[in-house]
Amino acid sequence: MLFIKNGNFHKTMRRRSKIRFKSITCTLFLSATLFLISSCDPSARKSSKLNVITTTNIFTDIVHNIGGDSIQLQGLMGAGVDPHLYKASEGDVSKLSQSDLIFYAGLHLEGKMVDIFEKMKSVNKTTVSLGEAIDKNLLIESKNFGGNYDPHTWFNVKLVKQMADQVAKSLTKADPKSAAYYKSNNIRYQKELDELEIYIRTKIESLPKEKRILVTAHDAFSYFGKEYGVQVLGLQGISTATEAGVKDVQRLRDFIIETKLNAIFIESSVPRRNIEALQNAVEKDGHVVQIGGSLYSDALGSPNTDEGTYIGMFKYNVNTMVESLK
Ligand SMILES: [Zn+2]
Repeated sequence: MLFIKNGNFHKTMRRRSKIRFKSITCTLFLSATLFLISSCDPSARKSSKLNVITTTNIFTDIVHNIGGDSIQLQGLMGAGVDPHLYKASEGDVSKLSQSDLIFYAGLHLEGKMVDIFEKMKSVNKTTVSLGEAIDKNLLIESKNFGGNYDPHTWFNVKLVKQMADQVAKSLTKADPKSAAYYKSNNIRYQKELDELEIYIRTKIESLPKEKRILVTAHDAFSYFGKEYGVQVLGLQGISTATEAGVKDVQRLRDFIIETKLNAIFIESSVPRRNIEALQNAVEKDGHVVQIGGSLYSDALGSPNTDEGTYIGMFKYNVNTMVESLK
C-alpha cells in the first residue's frame, strides 16, 4: 500500500497535475502543429515525386530499392539509432505531416511513436505498417508481451520479401503512373533477396551444429534463429526499454559456461556495457568468452558502406558470427 504523508500528499498531487498538464500541452502542441502544417500552401511542395517517410534505416533501404528515383524518400532514424527508445522530434512530426505515404515497422517496434502514427491516420495520412503486412502465421509471438508479436521481422529474408511486395503495392496505389517501374524494381529486389537467403544458409552450414549459438545484447534475433537453425539468447528482452536484471546475467553466465561458448556479441544500436558485464561475470567464474564483434540489429550501418544496406548488413552479421564462433 502506498502511504503518503500529509505534506507530501500535496506535493504528489501538484506533481501529478503538472504531469497531466504537460501531457495535455503535448497533445495540444501536436494537434496545432498538424493543423498548421496541413493548412500550409500546397505550392510549397518542392517536387512532384511521391514524398515518402520511413522510420528505421532498414525500412528506408527496402523502400529505396522499390521506389528508386520515382520517390522522394526520407528516413527518420539513421545508423546506430535504437527504434524502441526513439522519440519523434518536432521536425519529424513536420516531415510526417507533409508526406504522401509513411512506412513503419509497427508491431510496437517504434514504441514511443505509436500515438503519432494514430494521429497521422486520424488526419487521413496513408500509413503502412510493414510488420502488419506479413502473414500472421509467420510471426513469432512475444514471450513477455502477451498477444503481441516480435517486431524484428527483417531477420527472416522471407518476411522481407513479403514486406517488399507490400511496399510495391502501396507505392503503386499512391502513384499508379510509375506502376511498371515499381514492379520491375520489386522483381529485381526479390531475386537479390533470394540470393541473400542462399548466402546465409551456406555460411551457417559451414559452422558445426553445436556452435550455432548466438548470445547478443537484446532479443532481436529470434526470427533469424528460427529460420536458419541458430539457438539465440538475448540479455535484454524484446525491447531495449526493459533493462537486463541480475538474474538475466546469471542465467546467461551459467549457459555460456555450460556450453563452453567462445564468443558473445554487442549490437550497434545498444550500449555495450550490458554485454561487457556478462563477459566479466563469465570470466570471474574462470571461463573466457570473447566479444565476437558488433552486430547490426535494429539499425543498418552508415550510408555508403556495405553495411548501410539491408543485404550488406545481413551478410556482415552472418560473416561476423560464423568467424567468431568457429
Ligand atoms: Zn530491438
